[in-house]
Amino acid sequence: LESLDVEAIRSEFPILEREFDGQQVVYLDNAATTQTPDAVVDAMSDYYRESNANIHRGIHHLSQEASEAYEVAHDRVAEFIGAEGREEVIFTKNTTESENLVAYAWGLNELQAGDRIVLTEMEHHASLVTWQQIGKRTGADVEYIRIDEDGRLDVDHARELIDDDAAIVSAVHVSNTLGTVNPVSELVDIAHEHDALAFIDGAQAVPNRPVDVEAIDADFYAFSGHKMAGPTGIGVLYGKEHLLEAMEPYLYGGGMIRKVTFEETTWGDLPWKFEPGTPPIAEAVGLHAAIDWLEEIGMDRIRSHEEEIARYAYERLDAEGDVEIYGPEPGPDRGGLVSFNLESVHAHDLTSIMNDHTVAVRAGDHCTQPLHDKLGVPASTRASFYVYNTREEVDTLVAALDDARQLFA
Ligand code: PMP
Repeated sequence: LESLDVEAIRSEFPILEREFDGQQVVYLDNAATTQTPDAVVDAMSDYYRESNANIHRGIHHLSQEASEAYEVAHDRVAEFIGAEGREEVIFTKNTTESENLVAYAWGLNELQAGDRIVLTEMEHHASLVTWQQIGKRTGADVEYIRIDEDGRLDVDHARELIDDDAAIVSAVHVSNTLGTVNPVSELVDIAHEHDALAFIDGAQAVPNRPVDVEAIDADFYAFSGHKMAGPTGIGVLYGKEHLLEAMEPYLYGGGMIRKVTFEETTWGDLPWKFEPGTPPIAEAVGLHAAIDWLEEIGMDRIRSHEEEIARYAYERLDAEGDVEIYGPEPGPDRGGLVSFNLESVHAHDLTSIMNDHTVAVRAGDHCTQPLHDKLGVPASTRASFYVYNTREEVDTLVAALDDARQLFA
């Protein structure tokens, strides 16, 4: 694989040139939100300047143009993730809403006492809290697939928990805290052997590696636009057509119906059945542009760039001697992020020192509180990388550790 021209890529992101106190920002908070290239900002501003209107096939020209752009964005997403077509691609607000959509529309209606919901110990709160609450409301049990000492899933434990009582398995594709890349195809196969459904949270996978939902055979797959060079305010729920067909909508309103009388309503076609009200139209245009932009670079090259930067960061931090790093060693089952703690310095203090050097990293539990409990720490500092990050930026991060040692140790 030819490596990326990172300098050329960086020139498409004016925000990366911003300075605070005379120092250029080092943006290493990409697992929270990635930056947006000019191509995406331009696509959205062109839309607002030239095509803005409400959709649902209004008669006038502008509405037709906006409708077309919105519908085609679904096709583009379907093609990008290997879905069959727009029927399988529902636009939501974010990964969290995609998770809730299935929990409400499928979980509340189908689950009952005696059923089991199987999660992993590394689930993001988006899935953990959602299914935990659906468990309480339906009487279904919630069980968690253990992680081993290296932060990998214990697949034997998965086989124990996913038996004929299991109704749904919800697993994160790439952990936003440990960086672990989970064997999702294997989990999906185990689920299907027991007639359980499989929901994969791909928020940290789709932005950074090629993903093919049909190859994984996931029943549902979710991700967010704002973590893949796209805008905030739009997320995706992929679902197999026959499952979505059978599911009741959980949000009601205009734009999703076939026929309404004072007594009854029948639902419109997929995916519109799950998209009532005025949807995120400009955001869909932006997501479309982001996918074009990512594919122009190539998802394989993005993955290898991130793996390389993450490996460099891991090795540099590890060599410091007083840094504890969570998750697997660098390799094909680790994504482009590193969470760590500096001995005897709280993650929030460390992150604030990093900010003094204009290094943007994140401190906290990264919406994985139970996982941090298991790791035995209240918080960690997370550096997460994207296409525009460089080794020099990692060097700046590592250099800042010295200040933290001097101030706090
Ligand atoms: N799942 C994972 C693995 C994530 O990393 C995130 C974002 N931190 C989410 C879900 C939630 O994404 P959003 O906030 O866009 O709903």
